[in-house]
Amino acid sequence: MNTHCPFCNPDSERELIVESATSYAIFDKFPVSEGHTLIIPKKNCSDYFELTFKDQSACILMLNRVKQIIWERFRPDGFNVGINISEAAVQTVPHVPIHLIPRNNGDVKSPRGGVIPDKQNY
Ligand SMILES: [Zn+2]
Repeated sequence: MNTHCPFCNPDSERELIVESATSYAIFDKFPVSEGHTLIIPKKNCSDYFELTFKDQSACILMLNRVKQIIWERFRPDGFNVGINISEAAVQTVPHVPIHLIPRNNGDVKSPRGGVIPDKQNY
């Protein structure tokens, strides 16, 4: 645990969507869509690929559980799931969350290739 890390020390006023022994889920502070959720391992680790397979599996189980909760609450048409690893991939906090981003038909003009803006038209 890192005392300065916002994911090791989550703001107690934020809604806790669900929690397990190894991870928890909260809404993203800067949501890109309604219901944008973070699945956060309790272990302080900056790189998903440095987590043990057991810890990765626990996160994926939590992702599946959270997807069901978010779907029941917001009824989106689809989801993006993403993990940002390193500054090159726009990781801003050195503790790795999994992003679950609800998507709806027509929510952006051209949804293809949205991660890298210059690659949007193909
Ligand atoms: Zn942390």
